[in-house]
Amino acid sequence: MSTSLLIVSGLGKSFGGVRAVDDVGFELAAGELLALIGPNGAGKSTTFNMINGQLPADAGSVRLGGAELLGRRPRDIWRLGVGRTFQIAETFASLTVSENVQMALLSHDGLLASLWRRATRHRRADALELLAQVGMDAQADRPAGELAYGDVKRVELAMALAHAPRLLLMDEPTAGMAPGERNALMSLTRDLATRRGIGVLFTEHSMDVVFTYAHRVIVLARGRLIAQGTPDEVRAHPQVREVYFGSGRTFGAAGPAVEVAS
Ligand code: ADP
Ligand code: MG
Repeated sequence: MSTSLLIVSGLGKSFGGVRAVDDVGFELAAGELLALIGPNGAGKSTTFNMINGQLPADAGSVRLGGAELLGRRPRDIWRLGVGRTFQIAETFASLTVSENVQMALLSHDGLLASLWRRATRHRRADALELLAQVGMDAQADRPAGELAYGDVKRVELAMALAHAPRLLLMDEPTAGMAPGERNALMSLTRDLATRRGIGVLFTEHSMDVVFTYAHRVIVLARGRLIAQGTPDEVRAHPQVREVYFGSGRTFGAAGPAVEVAS
């Protein structure tokens, strides 16, 4: 019997002659942070977009708590509990921090957000509670457009939590962040995932961040899954070292080689 929240098997997608994702399979448990890593073009985003329904798969299966996700529309997959962090452009700079989260709650409750004014009255206390969980309640009434970049990311996380996701997909959540901010965001994400039993699948360029915060790591190269395991197991995997550094070098060796471009 499996206790996995998410079970991906035989997942495949080609673009013309390019096998972007080729027979990929992995599992993810509730409360677990699973890092999906791999060089530029490895198929990470394509994998994410098949799970969230934005891209149809050619082959395979994606089951969340037993329900097949492939073939469903993004909105239906979202309703089944697959959340993702919003992009920065999707937060409303002119609204306050609290109103942004209230908008997300409005959307979660199935109400029309066309009259944004409604959001100012909608579930304010719940929004403040969510903001407290990401350490942003003290800034609830500031316009979102005034926030520092790392704080915007916290608000985006609160907005994702407004949908009470069972699975959270985070494709490059720390892009553009300074190292200290990356650590803060992933530390917060890990705490929230543990506390709420949310499974988190994320991509991340900083190997330091991956090896510090992921419970497990899966590695894609040219669409194929070449390794999976604990950070220590993946770090020691010969094929992973080959893909990232050429032979002989180790993760964590000082210098820019530990940063992998996407
Ligand atoms: P990653 O996120 O790991 O950098 P992607 O999933 O974005 O990789 O891309 C995997 C491969 O699929 C790359 O070769 C990329 O060029 C190709 N690809 C991705 N999306 C498309 C698309 N919409 N049309 C054609 N090729 C694509
Ligand atoms: Mg990508």
